[in-house]
Amino acid sequence: MPNQKGLRQNNKAIVFQTIAKFGPISRKEIAEITNLSPALVTIITEELKKQSFILETGTANSTGGRPAVFLEIYPHAGYVIGINLGMTYISTLLMDFSLQPVHKLKIPTLPHEGKDAVINRIVEAIEKIIILAEVPREKVLAIGIGVPGLVDTKNGISKFSPNLGWYNVPIRDIVYQRVNIPVLIENDVRCATLGEKFFGAGKGVDNLVCMYVGTGIGAGIIIDGKLYKGVSEGAGEIGHTTILDDGPKCSCGNKGCLEAIASGPAIARRAKELIEKGRKSLIYDLVEGKLEKITGEIVSRAGWSGDPLALEILRDTGHYLGIGIANLINLFNPELLILGGGVMQAGELIMNSLRETLKERVFSMPAEAVKIVFAFLGNEAGMTGAAKLAMDFAYQSLGLII
Ligand SMILES: [Zn+2]
Repeated sequence: MPNQKGLRQNNKAIVFQTIAKFGPISRKEIAEITNLSPALVTIITEELKKQSFILETGTANSTGGRPAVFLEIYPHAGYVIGINLGMTYISTLLMDFSLQPVHKLKIPTLPHEGKDAVINRIVEAIEKIIILAEVPREKVLAIGIGVPGLVDTKNGISKFSPNLGWYNVPIRDIVYQRVNIPVLIENDVRCATLGEKFFGAGKGVDNLVCMYVGTGIGAGIIIDGKLYKGVSEGAGEIGHTTILDDGPKCSCGNKGCLEAIASGPAIARRAKELIEKGRKSLIYDLVEGKLEKITGEIVSRAGWSGDPLALEILRDTGHYLGIGIANLINLFNPELLILGGGVMQAGELIMNSLRETLKERVFSMPAEAVKIVFAFLGNEAGMTGAAKLAMDFAYQSLGLII
């Protein structure tokens, strides 16, 4: 049972989060929403004001009476930084205390230069964005980093990132020692999922799956408003579920994984194979006969020009993605499924057969009730979610979230 002090702390967090969610908001409205007494709300808001976590904004009363006083989060109370460590760019966002973006920065990752060089650039991005955003360094409360591959968030370790070539890299502590600001890490797909859940396509939805189809295929799962990660943070690896028993070999060592059939590289490989077998295609012209230059994006471009081979490959891709997504829906019964990643740029060329497959295979709910939308935030989802993660940590250390 929480003691008096604990209760007071809880109430403070409840009031703060109510202001964060609904502000500008009056004390009276806070009392109504939280079921706390107006007197207690006044005491707590005075305390929050004294700590400079919130501020008063007066709005003239239209009836000509006393101006009503509204409360909102003081944006300059503190800042956080969210980083997405992508294969091409290190995308960085500095966010204020009211969760508004202040500054964005993108610098090349250049992963082939090795781990130390990449970490140097992460540190450089942090130092640079603090200067560019013109905020006092001591007010930067936390940094969140989205890292591709398997992570151990508790110990801050990138356990295995095949694309980066990282194995057991204690990235949290390394960055912390360099910048002296608390650092948290999370898997990049989960960060992007948080970004879409709180700022994008999934706003206000508490049960959703966010699936990214690009170089790899992965999904972030939100159950009852919280990330579901599994016992060793391996949940959501939909890309490595088996779709074809005897299918093509996957980077994970298995055969017939969804990622080996429907990712960007898988689409490119399929096009190359079929052209080598003698199929005529616009794809051949687009790469000027250099088949190793085929990418998923080029197949997609040929598809939009009506190329029959490209259309066939994308239709098949949609079918296999549909099988994977039907599995997800049957397992989790989500309210919303968000689709993102480069391969989804093919839009309807993939979606038509994907929807057909869902109709055949979704059992847990009527196919027409399955709400599927495209991700809103694109490449910014990861850094936005990483910043949210950092802000939740900052709020927590200040007693402003339960
Ligand atoms: Zn696999």
